Amino acid sequence: MAKSSIKSKKTYKFKAELTQLLHMIVHSLYTHPEVFLRELISNASDALNKVRFLQLTDQEITDPDADLKISINLDTKKQLFSIEDSGIGMTEEDLIKSIGTVANSGTLKFLEEIQKKGKVPEGDLIGQFGVGFYSVFMVTDEVVIETRHADPGSKGYRWTSNGQGSFTIEEIDRKKRGTSISFRLKDEHKDFSEDYRVKSTIQKYSNFVGFPIEIGKEKANTVDALWRRSKDELKEDELIEFYKFVANDFEAPLGHLHLSLEGAVNFKALLFVPPKAPMNLFYDLEDKGLHLYSNRIFIQDDAKELLPEYLKFIRGVVDTEDLPLNISREVTQHSPVMAKIKTILTTRILNMLEDWSKNDLGKFEKFYNNFGMLFKTGVNSDFGNRDKIIKLLRFESTAKPKGELVSLDDYITRMKKKQKEIYYLSGEDRDIVERNPNLEYFRKNDIEVLLLTDPVDVFVIPSINEYDKKPLKSIDKADITLDDEKDKDSKDDDSLNETMINSLISVFKETLGDKVADVTVSKRLVNSPVTLVVGKEGLDPQMERMMKIMNQEVTPRKKILEINSGHHLIKNLSRLNIGDSKDPLLRKSILQLYESAMLIDGNLTNPTEFVQRLNEIMEEATK
Ligand code: ADP
Repeated sequence: MAKSSIKSKKTYKFKAELTQLLHMIVHSLYTHPEVFLRELISNASDALNKVRFLQLTDQEITDPDADLKISINLDTKKQLFSIEDSGIGMTEEDLIKSIGTVANSGTLKFLEEIQKKGKVPEGDLIGQFGVGFYSVFMVTDEVVIETRHADPGSKGYRWTSNGQGSFTIEEIDRKKRGTSISFRLKDEHKDFSEDYRVKSTIQKYSNFVGFPIEIGKEKANTVDALWRRSKDELKEDELIEFYKFVANDFEAPLGHLHLSLEGAVNFKALLFVPPKAPMNLFYDLEDKGLHLYSNRIFIQDDAKELLPEYLKFIRGVVDTEDLPLNISREVTQHSPVMAKIKTILTTRILNMLEDWSKNDLGKFEKFYNNFGMLFKTGVNSDFGNRDKIIKLLRFESTAKPKGELVSLDDYITRMKKKQKEIYYLSGEDRDIVERNPNLEYFRKNDIEVLLLTDPVDVFVIPSINEYDKKPLKSIDKADITLDDEKDKDSKDDDSLNETMINSLISVFKETLGDKVADVTVSKRLVNSPVTLVVGKEGLDPQMERMMKIMNQEVTPRKKILEINSGHHLIKNLSRLNIGDSKDPLLRKSILQLYESAMLIDGNLTNPTEFVQRLNEIMEEATK
C-alpha cells in the first residue's frame, strides 16, 4: 500500500443554525427547486469575477490561460449533475468557513423571523439571504465539491456532505484551478439531468451571467451587455428577463430607465423599479446596490455609492468607461466619478417618477404604496432635491375617501380664499384620525386637512416648514390661527357670558391641577365638549408615540385642555358651577372629560379609575 497516497479525511460538524436551515430548505422551500441551478451558477460567476480581478491586477495565479467559463455535464441515465468553473476556487479554510457556516447576518435574522411566524414566506427568498449553495440539497442527498484555489501554492480538496449535520474534507490531487460540484439527483428531480430542462432554466434565471455557460459543448446563455444597446434595439421581453436576472426577482418590473450619457462623465445605465417592496423595506435593502461594470467588465454587484439611501430600492446596472478595471471597493467608495454618476442617476430617477405622477398615475401609486415610506426620508437627507421630493409626496386627506392620496399641489388648489396655511393631523390610521375632535372645526368649515397615517410622516412632514410659501401646521397644536368670526350669529340665548366662562375655567384648572398646562376656550370644537392640544413648542403626539415605541426618552409635555363653550355639557357644568362650585358631580365630570380626551389621544393609563368614575356619574344621572 502506497503510504503517500493516503491522505487523512477530517469530519466537521455543521453549526446548529446551519443544520436547522438545511432542514428548512429541504422541507419547506420546495416550491422552486430549480433555484439551485441559479445559485450554483451565481457562485461560479462570482468566483470567475474574482479570478479575473486577480488577473487584471497582475497577480500570479494557477492556470493563467484557462478560459473563464462555466461547464455543466449531465448523465441522464445515471441521474448525475456536475458544474465546474475556472474561478478563484477555495482553500481548505474557505471550505470550512464559507461552506460550513452561515456567515450572513441577514440569514440568521431571516431564520428567526421564520421561526416567529412559523412558516416560510412566499416567493423566492433563498437567494437573498446568502444560503445559496445549500439549495442543492433540495435536489440531491449528497454533494461532492472538488476545488483548488487560484493561489499558486494551494492544494486541491474534496468536500463531501449529505447535509445531515456534518461534512468531510480531504486533500486530493487536482491540477486545475477552480471548483467542480457534483451529485446524483433525487428521483423526483432527475429532470435536471436532461439538457433541455437545464438549458431552459439557465435561460430563465441566468441568461445574462457575464461568462459562457456550456452544457456539454453547447453554449446555453447570451453573454450580452443589454444596456449597451440603443433604446430601439431593446425588446420588452428582454428587459423583463434582464430585470429578473439583476434583481433576482420572479416578476416583471414596474418600470425602467435606460440612460446613455456622454460628457463630464460617461456611462450607460439600465435601471428598474421593482414591482413589490421586500418584506422589510428598511432592513432588507441594507446590503443592496446597483451592479457596476467598467466597460462591460463586471466590477461589483452591490455598488451602494451609486444611489442615495432613499432610492435604494432601484435595481439595475451602471457601466462606465471612466473607472479603471482593477478598481477596488475602497476606491469606488470615494471616487468622484461615482459621486457624479450618483447625482445624475438621482435627478433622472426623480424626473421619471414625476413623469409617472403626471402621465401614469396607476404606476406612480404602485411605486408610492410600495416604496413611499423609504422614498419620503429623502426630504430630510437630500437637500439638493428636497423640493422635487416634496412635490412627489402623497397623503390621505379629509377631501378624499380612505385609500385615495393627494399631493400638496392638489391641496393648494382646494384651499379656501382666506386660508393661509396647509393643515395636517397625524395618527395611527385613517379611522382613528377621523375621530379626532380637533377636526371638527375644519370639517364644519369645509377646510381640507391632510391625514398623516404613515409613521414615517411624523419625521418628515414637520421638517417641511412651508410649501409654496404656505406654512404647514398640525391642527392639534395650540398655535393655529382659526377664524374668530365663526358662528357669531348662531349664538343661542343660553350661551355663556365671559364671567361664566372664566369662572368655569378656574374650576377646571383647580380640579385638574398640574395634569394640564392650561385650560382655554376652544375655537376648533363643534360637537365635542373638550379636546387636548399640544403647546406651540410641544412634540407632535404621533411623534411622541413613535419615540416611545423606539424606546427613546420622552418627557411628555403637558397639554392644553380646550373647552367648547357652546356644548350643552359645558353649559350644564356652568350651571352646576353657579349653583355650587364645590359640587362633587361638577368635579367628577371635569376629571371624566379630561380622561376621555386622554383616551381619544391613546394616552389613558388607568382605565379602572376611569370606568369606576363613569359608573358613579351614571348612577347619579339615573337616580
Ligand atoms: P453566498 O454566495 O450568498 O455567499 P453560498 O452559500 O452560495 O452563499 O456560498 C458561500 C460561499 O462559498 C461563497 O460566498 C463563496 O465564498 C464560496 N463559494 C461557493 N461556491 C463557490 C465557487 N464555485 N467557487 C468559489 N467559491 C465558492
